[in-house]
Amino acid sequence: MDLSGEQFDVIVVGAGIMGSSTAYHLAKRGQKVLLLEQFDFLHHRGSSHGESRTIRSTYTDDYYCAMAVESARLWEEAESEIGYKVYFKAPHFDLGPSNSQSLRALIASCGKRSVGCRVLDPREAEEEFAGRFKLPEDWIGVCTELGGVIKPTKAVAMFQTLAIQNGAVLRDRTEVKGIVKDNERGGIRVLIGDGGGGEEIWGEKCVVTAGAWTEKLVKIVSGIELPIQPVETTVCYWRVKEGHEGKLAIGGDFPTFASYSQPYIYGTPSLEFPGLIKVAVHGGFPCDPDRRKWGPGKAVEELKGWIAATFGGAVETEGGPVAKQSCMYSMTPDEDYVIDFLGGEFGEDVVVGGGFSGHGFKMGPVVGKILAELAVHGEVKGVVEEGILRYFRIQRFVENPLGNPKEYSGE
Ligand SMILES: Cc1cc2nc3c(=O)[nH]c(=O)nc-3n(C[C@H](O)[C@H](O)[C@H](O)COP(=O)(O)OP(=O)(O)OC[C@H]3O[C@@H](n4cnc5c(N)ncnc54)[C@H](O)[C@@H]3O)c2cc1C
Repeated sequence: MDLSGEQFDVIVVGAGIMGSSTAYHLAKRGQKVLLLEQFDFLHHRGSSHGESRTIRSTYTDDYYCAMAVESARLWEEAESEIGYKVYFKAPHFDLGPSNSQSLRALIASCGKRSVGCRVLDPREAEEEFAGRFKLPEDWIGVCTELGGVIKPTKAVAMFQTLAIQNGAVLRDRTEVKGIVKDNERGGIRVLIGDGGGGEEIWGEKCVVTAGAWTEKLVKIVSGIELPIQPVETTVCYWRVKEGHEGKLAIGGDFPTFASYSQPYIYGTPSLEFPGLIKVAVHGGFPCDPDRRKWGPGKAVEELKGWIAATFGGAVETEGGPVAKQSCMYSMTPDEDYVIDFLGGEFGEDVVVGGGFSGHGFKMGPVVGKILAELAVHGEVKGVVEEGILRYFRIQRFVENPLGNPKEYSGE
């Protein structure tokens, strides 16, 4: 389909979870939308592919708690529109040393945002999970109700399908080479294809959701250097020992979990590969998204020790993980998102959603709604609380290269 000469209300660049959800929200509002993706749809070279992402409402920074609750609601709304499930509920369990500042901040956030939580000592945690979690003597656990697993590739496909059903145009294998201001007509022109002979598509507005390529694209377009560092990370799956498979599977009371120690470890109950459990380290190695190393994973030896101690021998660690998957984070220095107008000559015509720092997937529906509101109305009303977007401004890095101050940083 030749798009030259076509005009759109909004052109969305990048069809991961953020771009696909944005296209859906825009199309649902009756906007004429084009979603462009440089690779094949549902490819495995970015951040939104694979089989599981955790959803939880517990955060050290309380402004994410309400966003997560609203996002959970929007996941269910989208599921009811498409007619199948992408979100599988489970309780959520955070654990760590009782003097961990991060865990203390998380508990305080729950209090501040009325997220019901129960703080357990090691004995209570062992009782709560019938021996499936063993905590060191000086650790605590925090139980919350909102947790679970979202199936990422299926979820991206869901939003793309819903976007099409609402009238959006989707095109893959189309790299955006540039975005320029249209000084004559107003709005912007998106440049695709190679060199001067490439196509140009006109849009009134543009939303950039380019994941690990955000820094590169924004620099080409505006010269602005966003501190968004692509990081390659590895997901590890471990074999559950015979006889324990059902106890660590989703569908009962086994939770999604996160361990606030060094390193930060997270995982999900068995779901995608029966008999295997996902336990991985949050972190990895800085990379160029176009020149990936594709491994190795970080801190696998530490993971082995943590798994052996925490699951009391129910998971096989000796031979290491039995399956791995590579993926990319887009890290900001403060690990807060970037959701803002690009500004400069583009003013409010170009909106950027990036830097989701390894914790964006659960927020896909709510971030898409925010980006759609910003593109259409230039402001967000009634989606999230007033003022929350100040944490996601680009300008914060001009004021402080490290971004938003964090009381628990360095832990
Ligand atoms: C291993 C791993 C585990 C994670 N676990 C969790 C979790 O448990 N919970 C959670 O909430 N989050 C989690 N995350 C984070 C979450 O997956 C990401 O925050 C989210 O997927 C980011 O989505 P995105 O749309 O911004 O980026 P992407 O999915 O990378 O999408 C960006 C898209 O833009 C395209 N693109 C880039 N440049 C161009 C261009 N010039 N032209 C056209 N297209 C372009 C790319 O090809 C890509 O498809 C995890 C991430 C990883 C890697």
